Amino acid sequence: MIDKLGSRHSRLVRNVALICAFCLVAMTVACARESGAPKNDRSIAEFFAMNTLMRIEVRGKEAESAIEAGRAEIYRLERLFSRTDPQSEVSAINNAAGKTWTTVSDETYFLIRTAEEIRVRTGGAFDITVAPVMDMWGFTDGLHRIPGDREIKDVLALVGGDRIVLEEDGNRVMLKSAGMSLDLGGIAKGYAGDRVLSILHDYDIESALINLGGNISTIGRRPSGSAFRIAIMDPEDRSKYLGTLAGADNHIVTSGGYERFFEKDGEVYIHIMDPQTARPAESDLLSVTVVGGKGIECDILSTALFVMGKDRAIEYWSAHRNFGLVLADSTGALYVSEDLEKAFTPTEGKVVTFFD
Ligand code: ADP
Ligand code: MG
Repeated sequence: MIDKLGSRHSRLVRNVALICAFCLVAMTVACARESGAPKNDRSIAEFFAMNTLMRIEVRGKEAESAIEAGRAEIYRLERLFSRTDPQSEVSAINNAAGKTWTTVSDETYFLIRTAEEIRVRTGGAFDITVAPVMDMWGFTDGLHRIPGDREIKDVLALVGGDRIVLEEDGNRVMLKSAGMSLDLGGIAKGYAGDRVLSILHDYDIESALINLGGNISTIGRRPSGSAFRIAIMDPEDRSKYLGTLAGADNHIVTSGGYERFFEKDGEVYIHIMDPQTARPAESDLLSVTVVGGKGIECDILSTALFVMGKDRAIEYWSAHRNFGLVLADSTGALYVSEDLEKAFTPTEGKVVTFFD
């Protein structure tokens, strides 16, 4: 179904993405289905924000208020970080590129600074200055197109986080040249996951399953006492999954080329860019799942490690070891960091290599 629809119109691709998001929701719900808890203690919200489908399910005394506060927080963050909202802080920075400083909130400053730190650590695989590249390939307006070599060369001159100037004193940001712009699409949902978890904790929520467009976060356990089990989708067949991970007050974030893409003349063009080439990343991986305590880092790393490919992703894990990693390569094999040996259950028949 994806193949047929993917080659048509961008709206269709978006619809496929939505349907798939629903499938993921259905899968995680199936994993978390529970009965027996008092009904008024359970609340669920499904809504569209940050260009994706979101779902929050909580159990607790103030379930409904907690969920509304979580949802309001996501909308608030969207208004800060969206680059298609002309009123956002990110738009203010982008509009002032090559001209003036922009003073931003602590949160916007924190996201940009965090993205920059990880850009350096990942050798430039994650770079929030990819916005002009996203535009050039038509991922921003949905009018997908393949740029020529000259255009690619020109746009590369606008990419590079080393040309974001940050001034901690006063939260000031400036992009060095006109035409540069920031895209927080690879980090905003991760930060939103951190904020929603924090808000739900403020409401003393004991059990929650949060799905922000494939970024999963959990609090506690299912009321039965067993752990949430989060399905990792099979990038080659969305009706299947590669395996499940036990959620344990953490974030489980997956990036893959199958999330958003277009097809032309039999070639697939994905929405994760290689900032070094200004072209869709040519990764030997189909999906990368990062498990950890900080949603913002999981989100950034899932994109960065996808761009870096299998060997560099494993090297990065070995050098840091403060997160869990599940890699699916293009042959269908799975590579899983040893810390997840207990939490990860592969689907029968999957070849798994644990690395350390
Ligand atoms: P999704 O948004 O589907 O969860 P990701 O978390 O992998 O997928 O983020 C992809 C988004 O991040 C893109 O839509 C784009 O906004 C941005 N992006 C794409 N490539 C990069 C990159 N190399 N570095 C930083 N951000 C990127
Ligand atoms: Mg992500």
